[in-house]
Amino acid sequence: MSKILDAFLNENLEALRDQGLYNEIDAVEGANGPIIQVNGKKLINLSSNNYLGLATNEELKQVAKKAIDEYGVGAGAVRTINGTMDLHVKLEEKLAEFKGTEAAISYQSGFNCNMAAISAVMDKNDAILSDQLNHASIIDGCRLSKAKIIAYKHSDMDDLRTKAKEAKESGLYNKIMVITDGVFSMDGDIAKLPEIVEIAKEFDLITYVDDAHGSGVTGKGKGTVKHFGLEKEIDFQIGTLSKAIGVVGGYVAGKKNLIDWLKVRSRPFLFSTAVTPGDVAAITRAVEMIMESTELHDRLWENGDYLKAGLKKLGFEIGASETPITPCIIGDEKLTQQFSKRLVEEGVYAKAIVFPTVPKGTGRVRNMPTAAHTKEMLDDALAIYEKVGRELGVIN
Ligand code: PMP
Repeated sequence: MSKILDAFLNENLEALRDQGLYNEIDAVEGANGPIIQVNGKKLINLSSNNYLGLATNEELKQVAKKAIDEYGVGAGAVRTINGTMDLHVKLEEKLAEFKGTEAAISYQSGFNCNMAAISAVMDKNDAILSDQLNHASIIDGCRLSKAKIIAYKHSDMDDLRTKAKEAKESGLYNKIMVITDGVFSMDGDIAKLPEIVEIAKEFDLITYVDDAHGSGVTGKGKGTVKHFGLEKEIDFQIGTLSKAIGVVGGYVAGKKNLIDWLKVRSRPFLFSTAVTPGDVAAITRAVEMIMESTELHDRLWENGDYLKAGLKKLGFEIGASETPITPCIIGDEKLTQQFSKRLVEEGVYAKAIVFPTVPKGTGRVRNMPTAAHTKEMLDDALAIYEKVGRELGVIN
């Protein structure tokens, strides 16, 4: 290794470790279900995005195995060369139906979908109005586009309107886009899409909603855009296939001309190998399942409401989540880390989220209940919360 790289790595890794900011990653021994095993210990898992429990669904496993038998384990090439299989075409038709749009395009992850889609449409002569709390992949996609990035205060529609007006009236930009998460994953709040659409109409903004945490969860499973009935108003409906859908990948749903453009101008589509056949088949069936029945969706919300009510009754501060995402706000960063560590020792896997991911002094343990949790599991988790909460003086 070059001396300069070696010194850079050692110095910076040591600094991170000294500040307690080096994140040691636990390996899950087996499937990522409602109960997981870490270091030989069984834990109630409240840390996954597997909202509907589909990551371990039996039918989906069979569908994936069958597709592997028929198509093999890899797509063989990038989509434009010969990696597009009839499975990918079927998936994209299904995604368009799911999102109520003319067409859809899939990507290898939600992260690279944002990198792909924003930079395929926006350039250095454009501006992007971006919610201050948007996901890292949106921020990176914006940076890659070289457009001027104008952050607006989180879900503050007055600030968005003021900044949209300034950007429009400056005459500096060819195109202006507004981008927001559909559901914000740290607090579980929902973007104010009707107001955003209104502002977009007033100032001729392109609208872009990343509903990674909304699809399968809000709008009876169909997502946040559907929740507000705005399918015809939002230009880019982005989603991941890795959270409620349970597999891996990302997509854009929108008008046919937008999807045609992304097929010729978005670089991860053009230059990165397609999602594997087993995954694509499982994803397609998962989307169908969400469209066919709200059973899993309903169970998810029931579990979310149950956990929220239980934590609140114990005296925890749970914020103002509008979705099953349930933050338990502890405040002090060190105490939050200690709280999460004690939860793990007692049998609950729920992650501490602290500054800089959330503002200073609002450290929290974030709980992600799923449709796969039973009431007994949630009761056990609540009993552990009570024990650790009293022990650390977070509740009386
Ligand atoms: N967008 C948002 C809003 C997300 O929360 C995430 C996942 N953390 C992503 C995109 C990336 O999705 P994926 O994990 O499928 O790459």
